[in-house]
Formats: sequence, C-alpha cells, structure tokens
Amino acid sequence: MAETLGIYVHIPYCLKKCSYCDFVSFPKDGDLDLSPDEYAYRVCREIEDTSGDIKDGYTVDTVYFGGGTPSCIGTDMIGRILLCLKKTFKISRDAEISIEINPETVTVEKAENLRFLGFNRVSMGVQSLNDEILSKLGRVHNSEKALEAYRILRNAGFRNINLDLMFGVPGQTLGIWKDTLEKIIELGPEHISFYSLQIEEGTPFYEEYRNGDLEIPSWKENREMYSCALEMLKSAGYVHYEISNASKPGFECRHNYKYWTMKPYLGFGTSAHSYIYDKRFFNTGELEYTRVFEESEDEEQELLDRMGDFVFTELRLIEGIDTVQFRELFGRSFEDVFGKILVSENMLPYLEIRRSGSGDIERLALSRKGLDNTNPVMQRFIETLYE
Ligand code: SF4
Repeated sequence: MAETLGIYVHIPYCLKKCSYCDFVSFPKDGDLDLSPDEYAYRVCREIEDTSGDIKDGYTVDTVYFGGGTPSCIGTDMIGRILLCLKKTFKISRDAEISIEINPETVTVEKAENLRFLGFNRVSMGVQSLNDEILSKLGRVHNSEKALEAYRILRNAGFRNINLDLMFGVPGQTLGIWKDTLEKIIELGPEHISFYSLQIEEGTPFYEEYRNGDLEIPSWKENREMYSCALEMLKSAGYVHYEISNASKPGFECRHNYKYWTMKPYLGFGTSAHSYIYDKRFFNTGELEYTRVFEESEDEEQELLDRMGDFVFTELRLIEGIDTVQFRELFGRSFEDVFGKILVSENMLPYLEIRRSGSGDIERLALSRKGLDNTNPVMQRFIETLYE
C-alpha cells in the first residue's frame, strides 16, 4: 500500500501586518514582486515539477493551505492550486483539506466557494473576543466580525472548524482571557488552538518591548492563563493532545499531527518546509523563492540533528515520544541516547515516563510542570545530544 503524505501550501498575503507577526506574509495591496495571481502560477509550476517517485509512491491524505491569510486572495487562485495538486498527486477520498482564514475575509460567497472546491476544515485566526486586545494586536477584525464569520462558515457546511486564540497579550487579564474562552467554548468549534504570545525580533512589538513601551502579563500570569485554558477546555469535553492544541474527540488536526510524529510532508510556496525520505529541505522566504537542500557532509552530525528534531516535535504531544519509533528510525534505544536525562533528579519532575511490563520505557511525555517549562526542557534534551 502506498505511504501517506501531507502537503502544505504557503499563501503569503494578508490585508495588513499584525503587530506581533514574524510569519512570511506581505500586505496584499503593497508594492510586491509578484501579484497573488502570478504567485499562484508559480506555485502550480513547482507542484507540477514534483518528482515522479513522490507522485507515484505516496497517497496524499492531508492538504493544508496556510499563510499569511490564504482567504484574502481570490478563491479562483486557491482553486487553481488545489486543482493542480489533484491533477499531480493521488489524493485520498477522505483527505483532510484545510485552509487558514481570517474573519475579515469571510463572506457567504467565499465560504460556499471554499466548500465547493473541497475544503473540509477551516482554521480561523480569532485570537480574542475582546476588541481592545484585538486592536492592540493590530488585527483587522473585531469580535463581532469573528462571531459573524463563524456563523457563515457553519452555514456554508463546515463541520470541522479550528479557532486560534492567543494569551499573554499586552493589556490582557485573566478575566479577559476567561471571558474569551467561555464565549469560544459556547460556540463549540471542533478544535481550539491557544498560543502564548511570543515577542519576535523584527516585529513592531519587539521594538516596543525593547524600548520598555510594551507591558505584557508576567510569567506567573501567563501560566495562570494557560492552566485556566486547560481546565476550561477539559471540563467542556475537549481533549488536550498537544501543548497548544485541544479538540473534540476524533478532531485532532491530522495534518499537524504529521509534523509532530515525523511523517512525510511536502511544502510548496515561499518559506515552505518539506520532510521526505528522511531529508529536510525548504524554500527561501521571498515571493520569488527558490528551494534549498541542506546537504550535510557529516553523517553523525546529521543523525544527531534528526534525533533533536524528533524530540523537539514529538515532545509537544501530550502522549509524548514513542520510543519504539525512535529505535526504528535511528537504530539506537532512547535510553542509550538520553539516559543521562532520564536519571537526572533535576529533570524528573518535568517528565512523565511510561514503562512496559518488562520495565522498558515506552513513552516519555512532559509532566504538568514540564508543560509550563517546555523551552528549557527541550533545550536540555538537545544539549545532551552534543555533550
Ligand atoms: S493575519 Fe496572521 S499571517 Fe497575517 S500578519 Fe496577522 S498574524 Fe501574520
């Protein structure tokens, strides 16, 4: 049976740039090297040039259009790229086909067109249902528009909707965050993502923060917001399956799951990454991008890098790292490589170790304390590889 493959398509246009955003995205009406129409043709050419081995050897079971704001360009261009994918690859009948959208771009016509084209999952960037917070973030929409967009999507027949939320935002209190969570839970989307704001270099927020003009909630408040989300989502029947993601049972994002479990995927468009045949490659971040293959001369170094990627991605899952898969991929036992960490008194409170009847480690996950300290814990794993 053919192996399965995920496909990512990056659409790098937005109506305007948000204050915190460091994604590869450009204001749609700015002075651009390529119009969305020209860009769509370029992406199609890239798709058509995919090697025969990949076309014949894999069945695509997830497609994800991300950005940017894919919904801010015409559905004719989105449709052209999707049709090109369908002509080039075998796409399974029950494939998850997702698109990221933002509330300000949702109209009845657009939602119906997207359904008609074959999209069966949408991920909408709501971030907050508090208008002051939305304005601080530099978002184009307000809470009323977000609620209206949600209704339009439901009426258009979408039965698998993710809503993206953000916490740890300037001016946000625990009360404001709870209020947004309550309203979102009441809407009942199938999936909710909840990310802590990151201050990224090169963004307006970064400049304000550096100049002391941006006050964000303290780490303690940030962690209270995270705990509050976990509790509220759990009591509403959502399953917390990844550090920042929860879904109703059976509605985990199948595409993102591929990233977290090192399954093959191909990315098209500017800045898109790919992982296939145990190799990683990526496209550069301009509109007229090129593909870059990272060739390592040093096999040992490459193996260590791949092990690091494995830990970094799988540890994000609440079920944790599959140590059997680790051995299959790298030919060494997890305990062999990371034994030092597994007996470290300092590290044990951050980890949850599940053993088989014979005492072997089957799974290694972050404990609740580990979830609050993901970056230093992951950092420690990576350091161990190179000690
Ligand atoms: S809508 Fe998303 S991709 Fe576009 S600028 Fe805002 S955060 Fe960035």
